[in-house]
Amino acid sequence: MTRSKSLLINILRNEGLRYTSQRRAVWNELKSSADHRDAEDIYLCLRRKKIRVSRATVYRTIDVLVKNNLVRKMELGDGRALYEPRIGNEHHDHIICLETGKITEFYNEDLEQLQEKIVKQRGYELVRHVHQLFVRPLKK
Ligand SMILES: [Zn+2]
Repeated sequence: MTRSKSLLINILRNEGLRYTSQRRAVWNELKSSADHRDAEDIYLCLRRKKIRVSRATVYRTIDVLVKNNLVRKMELGDGRALYEPRIGNEHHDHIICLETGKITEFYNEDLEQLQEKIVKQRGYELVRHVHQLFVRPLKK
């Protein structure tokens, strides 16, 4: 059994859910690409691949994967959310273009340290952060 499969079985069991080929397919679909995709896109891709899975199963499984840190959820602030696999995916933050919807990943060591410093000065330790920059192209 692959590591990723036993991981999924354990997570589902902890959530009181059975391991099924549909739930497995949701995880496989998510980790097949490093793109940022919404739940509907995952659902439609599975249906296109002739996998008989309900929308509810897809959404519920994604929630469980997010809760257990296999998948990262990015809220766009307008009610939409995008997902990306976390496995083999280093920490990064996002630049989101409001005009084109393009998502750019970035990592900046100075920014990481600054965030640590800011919370430390206020008597906290940083557990995690979400940094999203909403942008629009510069007019040329
Ligand atoms: Zn990303």
